[in-house]
Amino acid sequence: MKITKVDVLLAKPDEQGWTPVFCRVYTDSGIYGDGEVALGYGGASRAAFGMVQDMAGLVIGMDPLDHELIWRKLYQGCFWGVNGGPIVFGAISAYDLAMWDIKGKFFNQPLYKLLGGKIRNEMRAYASQLQQGWGIGRSPARSVEDYVKNCEIALDKGFDAVKINFTTHRPDEGRYSKTEQTAYIHPDYMDVIESRLAAVRKTMGKNGDIILENHCYTDVQSAVQMGLMAKQYHPYYYEEPVTPHPELLAQVHQKTGIPVASGERIYSAWQYERCFQADAIQVIQPDLGTCGGLTEVKKICDMSFVHELGVQIHVCGSPLVTAASLHIEAVLPNFVIHEYNVNCMMPTMLKYATHDYQPVNGKMPVPELPGIGSEISDFAFQNSTVVTFE
Ligand code: MG
Repeated sequence: MKITKVDVLLAKPDEQGWTPVFCRVYTDSGIYGDGEVALGYGGASRAAFGMVQDMAGLVIGMDPLDHELIWRKLYQGCFWGVNGGPIVFGAISAYDLAMWDIKGKFFNQPLYKLLGGKIRNEMRAYASQLQQGWGIGRSPARSVEDYVKNCEIALDKGFDAVKINFTTHRPDEGRYSKTEQTAYIHPDYMDVIESRLAAVRKTMGKNGDIILENHCYTDVQSAVQMGLMAKQYHPYYYEEPVTPHPELLAQVHQKTGIPVASGERIYSAWQYERCFQADAIQVIQPDLGTCGGLTEVKKICDMSFVHELGVQIHVCGSPLVTAASLHIEAVLPNFVIHEYNVNCMMPTMLKYATHDYQPVNGKMPVPELPGIGSEISDFAFQNSTVVTFE
């Protein structure tokens, strides 16, 4: 089997301006595979679109079943792969996912079978980023009542775990600045954070789980200050309390005793290895669409198992990369919980893939179709800029 053609897609913005980047890889056998760069938000999608195009010529003519050879060719074929970031590893991710999709279709098996077999049939999920509210017309959560209401919606949907950034939105209007979140959190600001967190704990009950998300806005000093306050409310874990620097993450864990999570801005096994050596992270969060694809993330997860760490795959793309994530979550012995990101619920985003796996009673299913179990939709092709290489 040989790769004959590649389509690279930059989707038009969805309701919140997100623009996912996809690739479809065609073969001379008639089988094609789909992949995605999970950089549809955050100001990098056009760069990703360009990088996937820059790499197209490297895969044409290759056997798509040789996913390790292709990964290495892409990694070595770009000078910027060494110690690279989201653009290079995002493009490698998209192609790698497409190769696995082809492999699954070729062997007529879902990806979890090719990864060694599932050890669970459903994955507990948490409702993620509830400070943004739910659905179209949502508005930032500002009052304590807003936080309670957003958690009640999650509970109604069957979730028993939530993730919230309590530090983003001011109670009146606008957002807190980066400066206000570093070095020292003013007592009035800390009161706002604590009143929200206390109300969420009360709403979720003793057995509900609350994940703290700081998006790297705090530094070691302020993250520890906040963590020591938050500890009495028993957070499940503390995500991106500081920039993904191994020693700084380790300091936050050591000084607060709260498990620390990070990984959506850590790329490749080399960068994760530094975190493992520094005992920096207790819950790793690699993203299949930015970290190097299924090939690299599986290796990272296996390494993390040896270090007795948990895995929460970062999920923040279209339903295509979400479906791929469900396969690896089904097979990992150290899987913790699935991220159900409310940002990915926009109707246009859901139309970009043929299958949209949704939680049932707060639990995600495992796709059973061959390959990823979802494809780039006709709607996505019609609503994207498409560049073809052959
Ligand atoms: Mg995050």
